[in-house]
Amino acid sequence: DAKANQRGGLRLFNKGFDQVLQQRLQTASELRHSVARSELELHFQPQIALKTSRLVGAEALLRWRRNGELVSPVDFIPAAESSGHIVSIGAWVLEEACRQQLHWQQETGLELTVAVNVSMRQLLDVHFLEMLTGVVQKTGINPKNLELEITETVMMENAETVVDLLAEVRDLGVQIAIDDFGTGYSSLSYLQQLTVDRLKIDRSFVQLVAEQDEARVIAAMIVKMGQLLGFKVLAEGVETSEQLAELKKLGCDEVQGFYYAKPMAADAWLEYVNQLNC
Ligand code: C2E
Ligand code: MG
Ligand code: MG
Ligand code: MG
Repeated sequence: DAKANQRGGLRLFNKGFDQVLQQRLQTASELRHSVARSELELHFQPQIALKTSRLVGAEALLRWRRNGELVSPVDFIPAAESSGHIVSIGAWVLEEACRQQLHWQQETGLELTVAVNVSMRQLLDVHFLEMLTGVVQKTGINPKNLELEITETVMMENAETVVDLLAEVRDLGVQIAIDDFGTGYSSLSYLQQLTVDRLKIDRSFVQLVAEQDEARVIAAMIVKMGQLLGFKVLAEGVETSEQLAELKKLGCDEVQGFYYAKPMAADAWLEYVNQLNC
């Protein structure tokens, strides 16, 4: 009986897995034309310095307008990664983010940073550095106003290559943040070799920071350790005033989350910045 159940379970699993693969292939083939058809857009979510309450920049978050519907990156980044389309999509994202940053500066007089997510396949593409240098030159962005967000998992899976690559990125003057920090498996010796500018505490800890001792201790430790290593520490996914108060107590440098604002389309973002600025 147990065996029969197991077999049934296995079949069910295989079927589900097939469907996931099938869907991914379908998505990938539709994604192929997304750049050429201008179906991609960036939304922006504010990043705020806690001590001064000032806006310091925005994270650029990709959206895909597929048949008029706005698709979230969690639903197409995996397909873009496995098909390789992420390389051209990522190049588009980077250039668009830089152009936007310059546009805000022109319109508001504020020098804000723009943070761009970079995935593993994109970072490990042989032309990545060339592409990055090209975009910085072509757009004329001040590289210190550009930040690349790399997840902890990506860093650890290719530790040596990534350490070298990121050193070159920083030589260009571009900033680096470790995204979703605390969910991967960074070894402390690895952090010792890496020079980054910012750690982003993963939302899973931030969500519990005001209610659970363990989450608070972990967040406190990341803040302390990050700052002692010379990094800024940003908490992502802040949703409540209780979480904010706790993060302030812990001495966290910066915050980002729905408590302040959800990611906004480019024109709404510019309005948001203008409102804060006057
Ligand atoms: P991420 O880089 O960790 O981005 C943060 C995600 O959390 C975003 O989801 C954001 O909308 C969401 N978020 C922000 N504040 C809150 C909050 O207070 N509560 C909750 N529940 N969520 C919050 P989004 O935009 O769906 O992006 C998901 C992930 O997709 C990103 O996670 C990033 O890994 C990836 N992604 C987004 N844009 C790009 C891109 O241009 N390139 C690549 N390679 N990946 C991207
Ligand atoms: Mg991110
Ligand atoms: Mg994150
Ligand atoms: Mg994430």
